[in-house]
Amino acid sequence: MFRKIILICTAVWAAASFSACGVSSASEEIAFEAMDTYMTITVYGDNAANAAQAAKDEIERLDSLLSTEDEGSEVYALNENGSGTLSEDSTALIDASLKLWEATDGAFDISVYPVMELWGFAGGEYKVPDEKELEDTLALVDAGKIVWDEESGTVTLAEGMAIDFGGIAKGYAGDAITDIFEEYGVTGAIASLGGNIVVYGEKTDSTLWNVAIEDPEDMSEYLGVLSIEDGVSVVTSGGYERYFEEDGVTYHHIIDPDTGYPADSGLISVTIASENGTEADGLSTSMFVMGKDEAVEFWKSNEAYDFEMILMDSERNLYVTEGLSGSFSSDLDFEIITGE
Ligand code: AMP
Ligand code: MG
Repeated sequence: MFRKIILICTAVWAAASFSACGVSSASEEIAFEAMDTYMTITVYGDNAANAAQAAKDEIERLDSLLSTEDEGSEVYALNENGSGTLSEDSTALIDASLKLWEATDGAFDISVYPVMELWGFAGGEYKVPDEKELEDTLALVDAGKIVWDEESGTVTLAEGMAIDFGGIAKGYAGDAITDIFEEYGVTGAIASLGGNIVVYGEKTDSTLWNVAIEDPEDMSEYLGVLSIEDGVSVVTSGGYERYFEEDGVTYHHIIDPDTGYPADSGLISVTIASENGTEADGLSTSMFVMGKDEAVEFWKSNEAYDFEMILMDSERNLYVTEGLSGSFSSDLDFEIITGE
């Protein structure tokens, strides 16, 4: 897996974040793999080492609860048995996922998992599915058929259905570790969970945190740099994260639930900034499926979700919503989307 947002080497903070950037003044930095991706957590303050370890433990706990492939996980059991009673974490995720499904008119659909499997994005070998097989499998995809009894916490899936929190779980994990940073009373922290960036508290020099948005077409380059404040999550979705090629065509891992094919909305990168990391993650996947016009319409008109975004289309046009216009800097030209 790739890191979609790289941390930029600027002045004091960068020096603290990567040893390659200069003298390291980090209190604690750990790197590990979880949730199918590479993660780093850097924490500052007296309790940094304990907080970093607790954050890692929490992510690993969530991973073993939410994994679709780990036979001991809650999600695995739900998919196998067709029903189950959810823990607090899975309950929060099903709630957020179903709300998003409704708000995005089905663009975000956790029941897309059987189609992911068919393409080999889940576990198997990559292959372009047979049309008929795809059509039959697509008939299983409909989050509206997930029966969730909020009172008892029981979820029941229709025959053949299966769910996957892959489009939202890292965002949830980011929110969970923010709570840990608070609990441990650290002064500042920044985590990259496979490209989902979460910042907490203050940098050692009290300036804003800088994150660079990776260029989807050249991962050694970046589209620009975003300065963000305490508590903001920055999440990017792009087809370049996981894909395969067959007969010269590239197929990626974000599926359009309407077609069963990799979303072909014209967007190649979507970055969401929000104080709610779970929503930021779900929205990045959703807006990627919806495409620029629908995403802009959603951003303007949907009042339930408070977020800003950076979009790049296949012609390399770059769009930035007005809430980020003062905090995004880039060598590329970009159009500012206003609320009007
Ligand atoms: P992200 O990197 O956050 O955009 O999430 C991509 C992951 O979300 C995929 O690897 C799948 O696990 C899952 N996924 C793919 N398509 C969808 C979709 N339309 N709705 C919800 N989850 C999806
Ligand atoms: Mg996502």
